[in-house]
Amino acid sequence: MSLSGKTAIVTGSNSGIGLGTARELARAGADVVLNSFTDRDEDHALAADMAKEFGVKVRYIKADMSKGEECRALVKKAGGCDILVNNAGIQFVSPVEEFPVEKWNAILAINLSSAFHTIAAALPGMRAKGWGRIVNIASAHGLTASPFKSAYVAAKHGIVGLTKTVALEAAGKGVTCNAICPGYVLTPLVEAQIPEQMKVHNMDREQVIREVMLERQPSRQFATVEEIGGTTVFLCSDAAAQITGTTISVDGGWTAL
Ligand code: NAD
Repeated sequence: MSLSGKTAIVTGSNSGIGLGTARELARAGADVVLNSFTDRDEDHALAADMAKEFGVKVRYIKADMSKGEECRALVKKAGGCDILVNNAGIQFVSPVEEFPVEKWNAILAINLSSAFHTIAAALPGMRAKGWGRIVNIASAHGLTASPFKSAYVAAKHGIVGLTKTVALEAAGKGVTCNAICPGYVLTPLVEAQIPEQMKVHNMDREQVIREVMLERQPSRQFATVEEIGGTTVFLCSDAAAQITGTTISVDGGWTAL
């Protein structure tokens, strides 16, 4: 399928699932806007390399997704948005009664409110063109919970609710809004949790991955960034035109348990 002529914004895309998704959209022919809160030479080099690899336009635009006005400015600076992937996200783990208020606020801002702001900025243009695709990267934690992840689970359930509401408001205008719910994907966000888990459980790396992390993922395999990106490309295809307001799990069977 070709997404040639479409412009895709992927938030939080200098790493992990965002980067993998941006690469799959570029491979399908879309021009891509990469984003994160940093403004390093390597961020711009990433864009230049991707443009060369896939023969599409790729720009890197700095915007801090914890700030509403920067989320909206990102869409404006992109100068058009046919495909919006709300991916930026952070994690913090703590019992609810000890959960630091600033971490709660940051997770809600980056993992949930950012999508409210980018969607509000992008939807009118999509409606006017009669075509648009909004893909929110939620999580298995948008459908189910785990202890000690109160802010993350609340934000991810919130984004599933936002997805349904926006789908209803956009229905019949050629614009769809869906959420992808990944299980564990081995990205820097997950990699960073392994050393601590090794200490807590007195296990080696492989045991932590298999017996702790993938314990709830019946396939006992990580999902890959290419699989999440491929699912996004499918949601952008004509075959997915009537898929809206729903969640697609890419979780090795986690939510079937
Ligand atoms: P990651 O840490 O590799 O990537 C997160 C991205 O968000 C990075 O590009 C980072 O720079 C960006 N980001 C963080 N704070 C930002 C801010 N304030 N402004 C702009 N960008 C910011 O993590 P990942 O695993 O690729 O996670 C991406 C998304 O996928 C998140 O929403 C996460 O909740 C979701 N997710 C991940 C997994 C997993 O197992 N890795 C599972 C389910 C859902």
